Amino acid sequence: MLAIQKIRNDFPVLHQQIQGHQLVYFDNAATSQKPKVVINALVAYYQGYNANIHRGIHTLAEKATVAFEQTRETVKEFIKAGSTEEVIFTKGTTEGINLVAATFGRKFIKADDEIIISTLEHHSNIVPWQLLCEATGAKLRIIPINDAGELDLEAYEKLLTPRTKLVSVVHISNALGTINPVETIIKAAHKVGAAVLIDGAQSAPHLTVDVQAMDCDFYIFSAHKVYAPTGMGVLYGKKHWLEQMPPYLGGGEMIKEVSFEKTTFNVLPYKFEAGTPNIADTIALKYALDYVQEIGKPAIAAHENQLARIVSDALRSIKGLRLVGTAAEKASIVSFVVDGVHHLDIGMLLDAKGIAVRTGHHCTQPLMKRLGVEGTVRASFAVYNTEEEVLYFVEQLEKIITKLR
Ligand SMILES: *Cc1c(COP(=O)(O)O)cnc(C)c1O
Repeated sequence: MLAIQKIRNDFPVLHQQIQGHQLVYFDNAATSQKPKVVINALVAYYQGYNANIHRGIHTLAEKATVAFEQTRETVKEFIKAGSTEEVIFTKGTTEGINLVAATFGRKFIKADDEIIISTLEHHSNIVPWQLLCEATGAKLRIIPINDAGELDLEAYEKLLTPRTKLVSVVHISNALGTINPVETIIKAAHKVGAAVLIDGAQSAPHLTVDVQAMDCDFYIFSAHKVYAPTGMGVLYGKKHWLEQMPPYLGGGEMIKEVSFEKTTFNVLPYKFEAGTPNIADTIALKYALDYVQEIGKPAIAAHENQLARIVSDALRSIKGLRLVGTAAEKASIVSFVVDGVHHLDIGMLLDAKGIAVRTGHHCTQPLMKRLGVEGTVRASFAVYNTEEEVLYFVEQLEKIITKLR
């Protein structure tokens, strides 16, 4: 059992009234709230040792550099990477995927090669590959799903051929909560010589991640969904790929030596970190990951899953309400639609009761189309949510549906 009240006290933003009601924050799959240790880390940096990193000889620059590189160590442990050379800082999941599409893509993807993604993907794991296919003449193949929102693995195996160069799939669907069998997917891809990218935006906060055991070639996540600031993310890549990939952005920091005739590039991971990075938010990420590890991911996941179970069970008994995404393996995301009631109306009326949920297509329009819905209402849980909150949510939702009918 988690000490929820103590945890809640770590999150200042939770303690406020929305339209006369205590805030209930169930939009954690979009972004999670930040604990005081993270907010304090930002303040401590800007008030105490703000300086540019790596090139400075003075004390503040040294202090900032040490803190910045400490985060790389912490991330390496958090995802069990083999070395800090394999941990590249980005702006977020979107930039991480675009980086791989632009660099791995430029080096290894040619006309008539194939890239496999799935029906469950977030737009940020669709569009970069479409752009790459347009530029190279490669082809995009899509793994279909069943009505529960699970990948069709037989169909996937049939899509794999010697032409497959990359498989890029989401670990946990942000729209439905489906947990994909990534180990199986990765093994099958490796058999035909394809590399595998895992979009870990939703798994980094909820699952214990071991990139070496998983054997993925790339693993990507955003800091802001793991209780850390926005504008910061991580790309893990196997060293042998990163070494062969050309740089992404050119500029300072990513070079060893520049002349007008020829430029040589910096070593890993700096080859992929051009320009002054997001120093403060990178430093703060360490505090967020330490916070998560201190409580323990298995305990956090057990708590969140329990809340999701209570909500799913209660919603099943509401007439005209349909859960969207009923995979056997699911994380703490509950998506649903109600016959004859628009998801936006439900979202607005919940907000009037202080409850924050997400409504719409969740950046997964092809998935919504496949499931025959325009959008859903989505409640997603985090470490600081309580049983009391989910019971209040169910009660208010029932009242709203009765009123709207
Ligand atoms: C949030 C999310 C993204 C995009 O992350 P950004 O932080 O917006 O770059 C990609 N994939 C999944 C599954 C997500 O949940």
